[in-house]
Amino acid sequence: MSLKKNKNRSGLKALLCFVLVLTCTFCTFSPLSVFAEEDKSLEELRDEYNKIEAIIQENQQNLNEVQGEIKDNKSKLDKLNSEIDDIQAQVDILSDRIDILNGDITSLNTNIQTITTEISSINTMITEIETRIAEGEILIADTREQLLERIRENYMAGGGSTLEILFTSEDLTSFLTRKELVAQVSEKDTKLITDLTSELVELNSLETQLEAEKVELVSKRTQLDSDMTTLTARQDDLESSLDVQEAKKKEATKKHEEVEEILEQLDEDSEEYKAIIKRQEEERKILEAQIDEYIKNHGSEVGDTPDEEYNNDGDMLWPVAGKTTMTAGYPAYKDGSAHWGIDICVVGATGGTRDENGRSYSLGKPFRAAQGGEVIIAANDDNWNYGFGNYCVIDHGDGTQTLYAHAQTLYVKKGDVVQKGENIGAIGETGNVTGPHLHFEVRVKRGDTVSRVQPLDYVSKP
Ligand SMILES: [Zn+2]
Repeated sequence: MSLKKNKNRSGLKALLCFVLVLTCTFCTFSPLSVFAEEDKSLEELRDEYNKIEAIIQENQQNLNEVQGEIKDNKSKLDKLNSEIDDIQAQVDILSDRIDILNGDITSLNTNIQTITTEISSINTMITEIETRIAEGEILIADTREQLLERIRENYMAGGGSTLEILFTSEDLTSFLTRKELVAQVSEKDTKLITDLTSELVELNSLETQLEAEKVELVSKRTQLDSDMTTLTARQDDLESSLDVQEAKKKEATKKHEEVEEILEQLDEDSEEYKAIIKRQEEERKILEAQIDEYIKNHGSEVGDTPDEEYNNDGDMLWPVAGKTTMTAGYPAYKDGSAHWGIDICVVGATGGTRDENGRSYSLGKPFRAAQGGEVIIAANDDNWNYGFGNYCVIDHGDGTQTLYAHAQTLYVKKGDVVQKGENIGAIGETGNVTGPHLHFEVRVKRGDTVSRVQPLDYVSKP
């Protein structure tokens, strides 16, 4: 993508000033009054006309350059607009993804928080249970000590066999269950032993239960720890991709701003170009009027008798020989804008105006005088005249004048007498055109009025 500022801007401004200066210079010549003055010699009129022609020619060259720039800038503008659309679509996609990621992270954090709370409460429970077990163990040990003490005190007199049983018993429970020994203790001691035994059994059972519970809780915590590790890893992943997306978004936004700036610049340029074109269009209208004015002053009018050397037979000829087509008609183009003539193109065997390589069949082919007459205007310098390019006007001596425009070159000059059907130039694409063709007009002078009439009333395609 080209983000460069229009380099030709300062050049354009200089050009604009130049055009304005030329326009003012042009006005001081007062061309209409020059044409109208009757006391000047034909020679003087021609000199002045040639001066005006030169100025107009320069203006036309400037216009062509400006029009080229406008075309370039318009295509640049189109390209930028489509690029902006692409970037905007990308930004939209990125924003959507970031929203989704943010939602995921929020829900992950909630999960982690819940799990952490659960683990914390499980740890508290385990601590409580462990404390109880420790207390129970201490109590059992104490009770065991007390019981052993009591047995020693009460049964010392019982003989070696009892002590032997006591000390050879593997544990206290098996010792206490021995019936012969139980029978020897007092009722008080029997109750103490029974109570202690039952408490011991209870504590052992509780310990077993708590141990089992602890095992379960630890296993659950292990599972939760592993879940949390997984979730944390995922959170890290999400956060890092969020960073990547945000960086992309930042970049896209920056690019967008740059493009907008360029567009603004181009809009400004465009306004300048439009102003120049508007001025040039006005100039063009002036020139059209000049042509009519020139014909008014120098052309024949309806009712005149043509010079004999014109051989005017009163019947105009289609101005291009061979197979042709009419690509635009009188008095308007398809888009409705004014068109005071007809456009003629040479066609190939299949009826197209260009061959398979895109080459125009018209370019360089001759066009001919529709009727005998005298060439009264001939502009044969490339890029001459607003819109018409190289063109000539033939006066046929009977009040009709024909105009031939956009020529590649003219074979005739002002003052030449031409015969009907004589080749007078080659078809080209000079002036304001989209492709090579002959632009053909018919003018009729009645008294002081010159009108541009429907050419098809005078010529018809063979
Ligand atoms: Zn035309």
